[in-house]
Order: sequence, then structure tokens, then C-alpha cells
Amino acid sequence: MGYDPLHDLRSTGALLEGHFILSSGLHSNRYVQCALYLQHPELAERAGRELAYLLKEADPALEPTVVISPALGGLIIGHECGRALGVRAVFAERAEGVMTLRRGFSLARDDRVVVVEDVVTTGKSTGEVVDVVRAAGVEPVALACVVDRRGADAPTMPAALVSLARLDIEVWKPEACPLCAKGVPAEKPGSRAPR
Ligand code: ZN
Repeated sequence: MGYDPLHDLRSTGALLEGHFILSSGLHSNRYVQCALYLQHPELAERAGRELAYLLKEADPALEPTVVISPALGGLIIGHECGRALGVRAVFAERAEGVMTLRRGFSLARDDRVVVVEDVVTTGKSTGEVVDVVRAAGVEPVALACVVDRRGADAPTMPAALVSLARLDIEVWKPEACPLCAKGVPAEKPGSRAPR
């Protein structure tokens, strides 16, 4: 389809490769800031369209009725994915630390809900949104994200996950970092808010 999400992630500075000191203090060989990709409306729209295509390809009987995303990171891609699927796009947000539906958003028991995120790392925020969906009495029918960077030790997801890009990102404690051992200079990329 002539679509190369990795190229777009790199060219927008959303995917950096090198030697990074993360906000957690861990070192890594790659750094992802999806907002730098999604800040371009034409790229965000395309990403939403491609995710919608992959979702329907993975399950032609999906027939979603609503997309839900975690604020803030999932907002833009959730909205674009909802646009491409022709369904509502709502978002969950934290209230006193707990992911919840606010602003009058609601899910019906017969809704077919797709959870959409920008980046899935541990699956933690995905799990929190799935809990929001289940609290409404519904089981999500699919999960989608722009970048799937789960490690081998990530927990099993509650539904099939489709992604535009699957990235292996290695993370080390500073004392175990092979890039430090080789003397490669490390950089601290723009602060990433904890998720
Ligand atoms: Zn290092």
C-alpha cells in the first residue's frame, strides 16, 4: 500500500535510535514519542485509516460501534481511527488516579468497543481502559495501537492487538547498559510524562 509507518515515525522525530537515558533512569537504544508523529494531521488521519483497515482485515465481522482511548496519548489516534471506522470516539481519563469515563460519555451493553492507543509498552493503560469498558458491562472486541513495543514479558492482552509498527526496544539498568560499556554518548530525550 506504499505505507511505511516506521519511515514516518523516524522522519517526524517520533522514533529516535541511539543511546537514551529515559525518565525512569533506565538506558535504551530507542526512544518513541508518538505525539511528534501524530502532530501532523495528515499523518494522523492516515494512521487512523490504516489501523481501521488492519482491524477489519483481522476480523471482517468486527462491526465496531465505538472507539475508546486513554487520555492524553490515545486521543488523536482514537479520534482518527473512529473517523475511519465511522463510529464514535470517546476517551477515558484519570480522576483521582483511576481511569474513568467522564464528560457524559457512555457505553451501551450492545456496543462493540475497540480500544485504541498510541503506544503499548506494558499493556497497563490498555488494561485500565479495558476495565472501564468492562465496568459498562461490555467486553472489548479488539485492541489497536500505533506502536506495539511490548517486551517478551508483557502480560497477555484481553483481545487481539493490531498495530502499525512492532518495535523491539531494549532497556537496561545503567550499570548493565552495553552502549555505556562501549562509551557511546547518551542523551536525554524530551521529558515523557509518566503513563
Ligand atoms: Zn547507557
